[in-house]
Amino acid sequence: MIDGQGRVIDYLRLSLTAECNLRCRYCLPEGRIVSHSKLTLADFAFIVEVAAGLGISRVRLTGGEPLLVQGLAEFVAEIRQYPGIQDIALTTNAQGLDNLADAIYQAGVSRVNISLDSLRPERYAYLTRGGKLQLTLQGVEAALYVGMFPVKINCVIMGGLNDDEIEAFALWTRVKPVSVRFIELMPFGEAANWPDSSFVSVRSMKERLAPLISHKDKVTGGGPAESFVITGALGSIGFISGTTEHFCGTCSRLRVTSVGTIRPCLFSDLEYSLQEAVRNRNHQELQTLLLDAALSKPVRENSMKTKRMAEIGG
Ligand code: SAM
Repeated sequence: MIDGQGRVIDYLRLSLTAECNLRCRYCLPEGRIVSHSKLTLADFAFIVEVAAGLGISRVRLTGGEPLLVQGLAEFVAEIRQYPGIQDIALTTNAQGLDNLADAIYQAGVSRVNISLDSLRPERYAYLTRGGKLQLTLQGVEAALYVGMFPVKINCVIMGGLNDDEIEAFALWTRVKPVSVRFIELMPFGEAANWPDSSFVSVRSMKERLAPLISHKDKVTGGGPAESFVITGALGSIGFISGTTEHFCGTCSRLRVTSVGTIRPCLFSDLEYSLQEAVRNRNHQELQTLLLDAALSKPVRENSMKTKRMAEIGG
């Protein structure tokens, strides 16, 4: 698909569920989340099949927490065989990934982004409201062990909460062949009303890490991160500035939300419902909706206010 600005749209992100086993403070409120998921895995598979026919070749499974979805490996194996699908990736907190890594890798998940905002067990538990750092580290090991590549670490840097760990994360890449991507906190979801002091710019992160950087790197995956190698490192570091710099010019994505809509742009609340077309397995209607979504991708947008990343699929 080509959008209105001539950008090639070949990347589909699926928020398989809004449910999550963690409650990261910037992402979700405390307490139980009532899932409003309106699509089944079979529905998602139908969407991928139709989207593949329109040129989607890369799919990312996210949420919520995609590892909570029953039948994930079977779903991956199903969509892997659709003509045109070349790359299936996962975004996860990796709690429990050690038990699933082999099965989902064998099914077709070739690479993984693991969210990890602290390397200190107590702080990790605080930031995630109860997560166990050890489980995520085991998940990192399992992903590397089974051969997922690259293994990227998504690290949201927050002033006063974990910004004192930037160097520790960077130096971790000397002993772990992972790509740590430092991400600016985006002011929506639970972080919508956080004070300015929580937002740390990519520019200031880069300035701090400059003395440790040896050279630029190119990491596979085509994401928005600029990537560098720390002197003597096995892995790399990258920076993603969703807030202070935009990467709209190279955006190739559409998002299917856990509530059964398609969202052309993360930063705009415009969405189209896919439910009826999907429920009726109406191939043509779904094709039209996907093409409409691609055509209505804004050049650049910054009006997203209300939604949570877990529904949209961060
Ligand atoms: N549960 C999975 C995980 O933890 O990776 C996937 C869903 S989570 C919503 C996806 C990503 O969105 C995480 O890396 C998280 O850090 C990021 N995220 C959520 N809210 C954010 C915000 N306000 N600013 C920046 N990143 C955010």
